[in-house]
Amino acid sequence: MLIPYEEFTRRADAIRAQIAAACKAAGRKASAVELLAVTKTHPAAAADYAARYGLRRVGENRVQEGMEKRAQTSSEYAALQWELIGHLQTNKAKLAVQHFDRVQSVDSDKLLNHLGTFATERGKTLPILLQINAGNDPAKFGAEPADAARLLETALAKKGLRVDGLMTIAPLGATPAETAVHAQRTFANLRTLRDELAARFRVPLPELSMGMTGDLTHAIAAGSTIVRVGTALFGSRPAE
Ligand SMILES: *Cc1c(COP(=O)(O)O)cnc(C)c1O
Repeated sequence: MLIPYEEFTRRADAIRAQIAAACKAAGRKASAVELLAVTKTHPAAAADYAARYGLRRVGENRVQEGMEKRAQTSSEYAALQWELIGHLQTNKAKLAVQHFDRVQSVDSDKLLNHLGTFATERGKTLPILLQINAGNDPAKFGAEPADAARLLETALAKKGLRVDGLMTIAPLGATPAETAVHAQRTFANLRTLRDELAARFRVPLPELSMGMTGDLTHAIAAGSTIVRVGTALFGSRPAE
């Protein structure tokens, strides 16, 4: 069940205030951080809410679910950008190129090859982020930090791809305090890695997609430019 739109607007206002406060504390402009609404598991109307409220991007973690919802979203909101944030299998790469505006979860050479080929076939430039396991979490997808330079080199050589930056998910801890420590460490690692790669390859890599409902303040302090928020906007999801 989706919450009523009025409740969504209250939640979105609160998250935007939290983002603005975190930016202020970090000496950054509030406009430096984009709020991406994570609509996974919620009905297509969740994406309509986000667009009606004025958000520009929604995130989905499954190709099929995202493309179905996109097809159901009101044509009034055709400018809404759909981003894939969940693990992508190579056999879905073609659909991902067709139906998403950006893929944040690129973590292998094989995937880069598939996405590059399909994007070139379509005469399209697909924006991507490289997903890095910057918190060394055994349970998470994402390339190892040590492989990031090789992946970036592969990606930069592909005409059909444009690398906007890096993405990560911080590991959860056993307690809120431990989770906070993991978040700070993970986000600082991603920021450092981005700075190193940008200098070494002389590319801007402007986007750092990091921070979710529970850790977005830490992410903004570390330089996040995209926070991916689901629970705080739409309420809790059924167990996945
Ligand atoms: C589900 C998901 C989110 C949103 O998480 P919340 O804790 O609900 O804000 C962010 N990023 C990724 C990759 C996700 O899969």
